[in-house]
Amino acid sequence: MSQHNDRSRPTIGINCSWIENRTRVPALMIRMNYLTSVIKVGGTPLLVPVVDDPVLLESYLDRIAGLLLIGGRDISPARYGASAHPLTMPLSAMREEFDLRLVRTALDRGLPVMAICLGCQLLNIALGGTLHQDIASAFPESPLQHTKRIGMSLTSHYVRIVKGTQLFRIIGKEKIETNSSHHQSINQLGDGLVASAFAEDGIIEAVEGMRYPFALGVQWHPEYLADQEDHIKLFQALVEAARPHLR
Ligand code: MN
Repeated sequence: MSQHNDRSRPTIGINCSWIENRTRVPALMIRMNYLTSVIKVGGTPLLVPVVDDPVLLESYLDRIAGLLLIGGRDISPARYGASAHPLTMPLSAMREEFDLRLVRTALDRGLPVMAICLGCQLLNIALGGTLHQDIASAFPESPLQHTKRIGMSLTSHYVRIVKGTQLFRIIGKEKIETNSSHHQSINQLGDGLVASAFAEDGIIEAVEGMRYPFALGVQWHPEYLADQEDHIKLFQALVEAARPHLR
């Protein structure tokens, strides 16, 4: 699909889920559609494992030209000064610590970052923002299905994209259809972040960082919709933003 030869494919780092399995040896997990979406637009995905060593983390960042943050469970509310809602299901502490350091370090280095679902929330927390811990409690009147867990290749609700934002420049439309599988959402925005898309109930569906060349978070899962132009454009934009950092 890509017209570029192998040497011109930017390497896109992708973080992984951390699973405590029955053998008591932790394991990493990644859905293949994150990788295939990056491959489809001419990037080379490179998995970045959870490691308990900041020096090793830097060493991974030396090898990538852009970063994709995947979805997952919830961030510990203590990270943003809140006590836990009963429905909050925190990530493993290992992954949370690693992912926060990973996104902050990548941003400090000026690497392009695209963050999906939990990744979008993580980007917000990394920059000092807060979350609504449970959409059903925070927005009881919302008629939208944000928490759908099946049929992710089908769309669930509309999203309005704010004109003049980077997201609008990427997708080129004011209204798109997205899937949705999140029970939390962004409340207060982190430093330098702006909301670039909203669902019709007012929930923030995308953010972007004004102080960085490319820091984009989306609350939906474009990797399930990579056969649709609106959604594959996000991966194209990440790979193009990574190209100047080519490794
Ligand atoms: Mn949603």
